[in-house]
Amino acid sequence: MPVQLLPVHYALIFAFGLVFGSFFNVCIYRWPQEDPKEREWVNTPSHCPKCGAKIRWYDNIPLFSWLILLRGKCRACKAPISWRYPLVELGNGLLWLLTAWLVANHGFSGVPESKTSWWYLAFAIYFASVYFLTFIIDAETQTIPDELLWGHGVGSVLFLWLAHGTDFSGGWLASALCALGLAGLFLLFWKFGAMGDGDVWLALGLGSLFGWPLTISMLVISFMVGGILGIFIILGKIIRKKYKFGDRTEIAYGPFLVLGSYITIFFGHDLINWYLSSFFPSAGGGLSGTGL
Ligand SMILES: [Zn+2]
Repeated sequence: MPVQLLPVHYALIFAFGLVFGSFFNVCIYRWPQEDPKEREWVNTPSHCPKCGAKIRWYDNIPLFSWLILLRGKCRACKAPISWRYPLVELGNGLLWLLTAWLVANHGFSGVPESKTSWWYLAFAIYFASVYFLTFIIDAETQTIPDELLWGHGVGSVLFLWLAHGTDFSGGWLASALCALGLAGLFLLFWKFGAMGDGDVWLALGLGSLFGWPLTISMLVISFMVGGILGIFIILGKIIRKKYKFGDRTEIAYGPFLVLGSYITIFFGHDLINWYLSSFFPSAGGGLSGTGL
């Protein structure tokens, strides 16, 4: 049955998106930490990084606590709390809302509307969250934590099971080949220093999730997004440096990959169909219903 969402569903999805956004703030803080004590979830409760005061439950309500109760300051020492915390919460709430709307109104790329179930909505929200976290952490630290690489890989395999069942000859095989092919390609980039090792591991999950031909869409969209943003980043640098070249800062590629992946989940086949009908109109209506 296609997913039909009522306003009450959207309200609930947004509310849960805010709550999970609050949890994701903790992930963003803890996962990249080197110190094992700071990575520890159970024995190290959430605390103010300045004075160490434990954060009480009522100071942890998404958006509300930061905006109204605390007004952006620690209750104990009045040190400012970054505006990033409420922004991540709001950003995740809006992302979940957008994702749900896309599943209900546009559908999964390559999945017929009749087959789009609530499971697809759950997977879309899951992958959107993994990509959201990868985007922020990789942009900030140039690393992708193992938790995200594993989370994405396991999610991809479970998704293939939903999409292809136990027919291992078609979609599964294509996914395995795409995973190996993409990881191999990225391994080559990594050898030449153009990519991080996190990207290579991420490629295994992305190739298996998208299979054939969506892996190509994902790459094309990622390179387009990366190229467009890259031009702005480089232009900004040139202007700041007043035309002095020579300062080559590493640009993390993960954020572009996950942005491209999110777009591919919904629009991957649209891109392929547009390409085929523009350049090979004699081939007919393009591809449909393969891959994902
Ligand atoms: Zn404090």
